[in-house]
Amino acid sequence: MHAHQIPHPEAAASAALSERAARVIPGGVNSPVRAYGSVGGTPRFLVSGSGPYVTDVDGNEYVDLVASWGPALLGHAHPAVVDAVQQTAARGLGFGASVPQEAELAEEIIARMPVVERVRLVSTGTEATMTAIRIARGATGRPLVIKFAGHYHGHSDGLLAEAGSGLATLAMPGSAGVTAETAAQTLVLPYNDLDALEAAFAEHGDRIAAVIAESAAANMGVLPPMPGFTEAMIRLAHAHGALVILDEVLTGFRAGPSGFWGIEQDRVAAGVTPDLLTFGKVVGGGLPLAALGGRAELMELLAPLGPVYQAGTLSGNPLAVAAGLTTLQHADAAAYARLSHAADVLTGAVTAALADAGVPHRVQRAGTLFSVLFGEFPDAPRGYAEVQGQNVAAHRAFFHAMLEQGVNLPPSAFEAWFVTAAHDDAALARVVDALPGAARAAAG
Ligand code: PLP
Repeated sequence: MHAHQIPHPEAAASAALSERAARVIPGGVNSPVRAYGSVGGTPRFLVSGSGPYVTDVDGNEYVDLVASWGPALLGHAHPAVVDAVQQTAARGLGFGASVPQEAELAEEIIARMPVVERVRLVSTGTEATMTAIRIARGATGRPLVIKFAGHYHGHSDGLLAEAGSGLATLAMPGSAGVTAETAAQTLVLPYNDLDALEAAFAEHGDRIAAVIAESAAANMGVLPPMPGFTEAMIRLAHAHGALVILDEVLTGFRAGPSGFWGIEQDRVAAGVTPDLLTFGKVVGGGLPLAALGGRAELMELLAPLGPVYQAGTLSGNPLAVAAGLTTLQHADAAAYARLSHAADVLTGAVTAALADAGVPHRVQRAGTLFSVLFGEFPDAPRGYAEVQGQNVAAHRAFFHAMLEQGVNLPPSAFEAWFVTAAHDDAALARVVDALPGAARAAAG
């Protein structure tokens, strides 16, 4: 057992599975945050989900605010999505050849994101950002990439420096196993700091292939760009002949129907647009599918048309395409209204509960995405340095008090809370009822 595991009597089956998994899988998990490293206790092994609820192997039901870390936009096991996957599966799991629905999914993405003219489907967000960067280097012939501290773009070598998500949770600055030569190709800058960006372009301008940024940072808590930052970033990059990659893997089709760029573009002068966008999570409806897209002349640098190589045995897998397409087809105005309503209810209730209990905190929001920072944040934090000082002990107590009352929150103080369109009044009420007790626990 892990040193700081807190035994929960009702989690006996999860605890046994955890021990069994740890004997054959490093840390017992296939993605680090699942190990409950920062909150301690027994990671719950889940066996089923329906709408806003998940059930663990001990038979406990929780209102789920993880939503598979984003993909389950419509809730778990949405009947139309399950039906589409089952019907597709019955005809074969994949052929390594093109299937009719791939173009339909690409068309659906393009319809929502007019800045995207061509789409390539891949299997993970990591591949999407890795490929976008390869295109940027191929297009510009330049080596360097700028990323922002606390922004997470998946686990490819060049993008792990000062990334958020699991690295933030584990307080790791980067990863062993990345060569110094590779790390040196990535310039990590503080987010929302135009002076730092200008200085980097002044010094390295003709060697910078791209700036990559989460559309709204959401892997160090939700931290949207300050007014004007995204526009200035795009203008500056373009003035220096560099491309801008907006990473919408987390925000895409979730922060709003056209992702966070759909919200931000109304605040940006016409014609100032990112060059490439990356998508994941919701676009695969819960199965392994992600995508990248952008202007035709950039995307057509990809093989087989151009010199930038990218491929995948499982790319465009018919089951994943069916899940993603059906999810997007059902993500209509009514679904986004429900997501927005759920976010309104929960942000209001968590603010009230924490304020009543005297727990210093700040709720941060970007469209339907939100997160709760524990600690004194009189002003909106601008970047990673400010949010790293979070009171993780308060979060830990809050997390466990919620879990014990049947609410499954992300097991990390740095992650967004994911609502779904299936979070109805009954599910929201269960969360709201649990909040005062959890707030008291967080107060210590
Ligand atoms: N980009 C962002 C903004 C993400 O949030 C994530 C995953 O959380 C990724 C990229 C990587 O996606 P994946 O985990 O599918 O590789």
